[in-house]
Amino acid sequence: MQNRASLIVVLGTGGTIAGTAPSAADDSAYTAAQLSIAELLAAVPELASVPIESEQVAQVDSKDMSHAIWQALARRVAHHTARAEVSGVVITHGTDTLEETAYFLQRVLAPAKPVVLTGAMRPATSARADGPGNLRDAVRVALASGRVGRAGVVAVLAGQVHGARQVRKAHPTRLDAFDSGEAGPLGVVQGDGVSWRSDPADHAPAEAPCSAALSFDVARWPRVEIVVSHAGAGGAMVQALVGDGVQGLVVAATGNGTVHQALEAALRAAQAQGVAVRRSVRSGDGRVSGPGAAGLPGAGDLSPVKARIDLMLALMPSMPA
Ligand code: ASP
Repeated sequence: MQNRASLIVVLGTGGTIAGTAPSAADDSAYTAAQLSIAELLAAVPELASVPIESEQVAQVDSKDMSHAIWQALARRVAHHTARAEVSGVVITHGTDTLEETAYFLQRVLAPAKPVVLTGAMRPATSARADGPGNLRDAVRVALASGRVGRAGVVAVLAGQVHGARQVRKAHPTRLDAFDSGEAGPLGVVQGDGVSWRSDPADHAPAEAPCSAALSFDVARWPRVEIVVSHAGAGGAMVQALVGDGVQGLVVAATGNGTVHQALEAALRAAQAQGVAVRRSVRSGDGRVSGPGAAGLPGAGDLSPVKARIDLMLALMPSMPA
């Protein structure tokens, strides 16, 4: 459905895009999450003619992203996307967990309007800051998506548009740190618009939105943790987590979902005690096939961090008390 509204709401959450350093030459020794969303927008003169509203939802280094911020952010996105005059929502975010927030918002909201996350690899004070260009591109993608009826959560960084399910931070320092793995980006930013490389349906997860996360008490969200299978792995971590009341475990498995026998034994024992277990692969690309010899369900093409979100949402009661 085409969207004739033109107002863009920009929500700030912190990150390097809002970071400051003592000197404009400093791209690495900086403090994230210092500047307000209003200050970030003021640094992008190309957006002066675009109708924009902004709101500071959080101010964190996204390595410290919390479920409480996720819930607050999802509520604000739901609020704004429901407004008839809003064409789309842009979110500024730290790059460390941007892929997790993107997937969380897609799964919880499956928004009918574009929701675009962006960030930066260099602080706002850098002489070569990438944040202003990324923010400009994110707004352009939100507007361009609305014009052609593309909806859902995407990430826009370094001129590329990535789907929420596929996007990942693939490099710790490069300016083009993000990719979509073997799926490739949804499109590239070109001038004021976007050159789309694929149909949105190719990348959109089919799942219905898990709206319980909007209202369910964050303190009671199901606890799901990630363990890694590796040479010399054992079961002690799993046993400790089960003893600590974990409700779900995602194993980042080797190969095509294989798990070290000592870890597998502990995971099977956890499963027998009622803990939900999923196998994802630690290799980055591809999908884990079938339940495998371990009899532990696979997480499809989801990365371990996204499989954790998926399982947490699956375990969340759909009718909060
Ligand atoms: N630690 C920062 C963050 O995720 C990194 C960044 O934004 O690039 O907030």
